[in-house]
Amino acid sequence: MTESSTAACETILSGISAYLDGELDTTACDAIEQHCQTCRRCAALVKGLRETVGLCRQAASVPLPDAARALLERLRG
Ligand SMILES: [Zn+2]
Repeated sequence: MTESSTAACETILSGISAYLDGELDTTACDAIEQHCQTCRRCAALVKGLRETVGLCRQAASVPLPDAARALLERLRG
């Protein structure tokens, strides 16, 4: 892997992890949404996990498939 995450991306990935654990608050949702406006890498990640990040507000209690968790774990590596 030659890609490296910026500090902002690390924050986003951390937020998404919290989301997967059902612990994401609306402030974190907003941060993810705003970051995805400028970061295609994270936007693609989020899109792969959910249709849009905005869904996190209503879907935090819905478990993601294991494949999505595995993807996230790889990215956090
Ligand atoms: Zn990013």
